[in-house]
Amino acid sequence: MSQSNVDVSEIHWLMDMFQTVDVGLVVLSADYRIQVWNGFMENHSGLTPRQVRDRYLFDLFSEIDEDWLRRKCDPVILLKNRAFTIWEQRPYIFKFRNYRPITGSAEYMYQNSTIFPLTDTMGKVTHLCLIIYDVTDVAVSRIELESMNGQLRTLSKTDFLTSLNNRGCWEEALINEYKRIKRSGHHSTLLMCDIDHFKRVNDTYGHAAGDAVIQQVATAVKKNLRSTDVAGRYGGEEFAVLLLDTTVDQAMFFAERLRKNVEAIAVEYNQQILRVTVSIGVAEYHSQMGEYRDWIEAADKALYQSKAAGRNCITKAE
Ligand code: GH3
Ligand code: MG
Ligand code: MG
Repeated sequence: MSQSNVDVSEIHWLMDMFQTVDVGLVVLSADYRIQVWNGFMENHSGLTPRQVRDRYLFDLFSEIDEDWLRRKCDPVILLKNRAFTIWEQRPYIFKFRNYRPITGSAEYMYQNSTIFPLTDTMGKVTHLCLIIYDVTDVAVSRIELESMNGQLRTLSKTDFLTSLNNRGCWEEALINEYKRIKRSGHHSTLLMCDIDHFKRVNDTYGHAAGDAVIQQVATAVKKNLRSTDVAGRYGGEEFAVLLLDTTVDQAMFFAERLRKNVEAIAVEYNQQILRVTVSIGVAEYHSQMGEYRDWIEAADKALYQSKAAGRNCITKAE
């Protein structure tokens, strides 16, 4: 084969590779007119090289944020730098539909890109080359993983039966409030609430009936909450509510409403009506408390007094 035949063959191969390679290759003139458009770009955009040739990029693809891409590309032209875009910053440059079966959950192709300068024989930058990488698989798995982590975080903080905060999460909120209030001198009140004679419910109607009662009482607790209050399931049939920026006297209104709401609940279980009551203790933070557990203890002690006083009532901690 003559030298010129070899050269022609090589160019032919290069063209084949350029067309077949699984990344997008685009060459732009310095005034952002499309000069080169490979097979990947044609397949995903549905536009042939002939259709895009010499077209102004931002006219043809109005979804591209012109200011943003120019900010990336201008230094490439002026300083001969390389530039990169990643999907975490912007999901894509070109809005191509995602047809991959495995990553079908993504509507559009996630893209990373590299942009580098093309120079003439004098070393002057005359064009830009954009390489577009399809990173949909990576992006979708990362997004799914993050969403699963978020769900796990929520699950690890939530009580399964009542969907209130679980004890650990609630106690963490209490500790934070305890630290805040020690500095701020605001008023906050803690309320502990325990279902009366709950063991009897279980013994008489069974554990599942007991669960239904716990759920209904939890619903009553939630119904009475303000957005700043933090409620949790403290133990089996015990609930704790942290009432932020609330004095003990204000908390008494909340407690009384809750007590009445629970008294009015009629839990229907296996064609029977179950009724329960709650005993409540409330304790406002005061500066002599040495640690956050003292606050719980004060509310717990008041709760115990309500039990001793005959149940279905509320006691203020001294
Ligand atoms: P008091 O009026 O003094 O509070 O009496 P009580 O019977 O409510 O209190 P006690 O502490 O003796 O009993 C609480 C019972 O709650 C015992 C336990 O088996 C039951 N319990 C704890 N967690 C759950 C739960 O998740 N579901 C059900 N169904 N029962 C539970
Ligand atoms: Mg109890
Ligand atoms: Mg009880």
